Amino acid sequence: MFGVLIVLTLVFIGVVFYLVKIVVLQLEQRADEDVLKSKQTFGSIIDQKDKAYAEKTRLEKEAAQIFTLYEMTKDISRHFNEQEAFNLFRQKLKENVVMEDCQLVADLADDAKEQIIPDDYSLFALKSKEQKLGFLIYKGVPSKDKEKFTILAHQFALALRRIRLYKDIERLAVTDSPTDVYTRRYFLERFEEEIKRAQVKKIKLSFFMLDIDHFKMVNDQYGHLTGDCVLKEIGVLIKENIREIDIAGRYGGEEFCVVLPETDLEGARLVAERIRKAAEKRLIKAYDTSIRITLSIGISTYPSDGKLPEELIDKADWSLYRAKAQGRNCVVAFGLYHPS
Ligand code: GH3
Ligand code: MG
Ligand code: MG
Repeated sequence: MFGVLIVLTLVFIGVVFYLVKIVVLQLEQRADEDVLKSKQTFGSIIDQKDKAYAEKTRLEKEAAQIFTLYEMTKDISRHFNEQEAFNLFRQKLKENVVMEDCQLVADLADDAKEQIIPDDYSLFALKSKEQKLGFLIYKGVPSKDKEKFTILAHQFALALRRIRLYKDIERLAVTDSPTDVYTRRYFLERFEEEIKRAQVKKIKLSFFMLDIDHFKMVNDQYGHLTGDCVLKEIGVLIKENIREIDIAGRYGGEEFCVVLPETDLEGARLVAERIRKAAEKRLIKAYDTSIRITLSIGISTYPSDGKLPEELIDKADWSLYRAKAQGRNCVVAFGLYHPS
């Protein structure tokens, strides 16, 4: 009986021991699974962290690029001069792109490309809205920087277009559209500037007023539109016969005015005669007719005939009146009637 009790006790202990072992094993297995899960979670968190870090680096790079573009566009926008804008663009390129050289070629005919571009240079056409603005020639840009170069060059093309548009608007604002010479207002501004410059530099300057002879007859005979063509042609003729530094304007109606900086009476008379003769010779084609006209010109000179624009205009006008009185198609200089 005692023996049976011992056996039963041992069996009981064995069963309990077995059950405890099973429970412990299960707990161990669960713990292992938990550890594995935690390891996996940890791994994916690390993965996510790496991805987030890579994304942050990419975004930082992108932001730096956008910021560079913004800064560059902002800086270039301050310039209204193409060369200055280009110098700044080149400086920004050097800061952001590996490059040996970059130059701006404003105009380049298709057949001249090969002669002008050195062998080791590449060409980038600057365009905006299909409008050709010029070319960049560059060398030493590695392929990893080509995309950045292209982005920056496109920004420069936009800046160039803005500068050109601004110039066009500025030119239109001061140009008398029917004749393509300066408007009276702008001409008078420039006239004053030139007088001040002559004063400072103590140099002479001449001014002349030019009037088409019997222009009313042209209008009466051929019509106002034909008259307008004649006016335009006279504007062209004047500009053909003066220097780059001379200033031509439309004073009003069929009267033109010209300032000749650094020119004395004798020099002005030569220019005025050249214009008068050129007009006399020219057969002006307007619509289906051809017309000949003549010009009368009155000259005044700074400082002998006056020191202010109004005085010089008055004296040239007086001389023009004399030219008309003398029979037209001639040049009269105030200084020759009233030598100083
Ligand atoms: P003169 O030799 O004395 O200068 O005679 P003129 O007929 O040229 O002079 P006048 O001042 O009597 O006439 C100027 C004419 O110019 C009158 C006007 O119809 C014409 N005119 C003024 N402005 C314009 C314009 O913009 N277009 C045209 N077609 N004619 C104009
Ligand atoms: Mg007149
Ligand atoms: Mg006239």
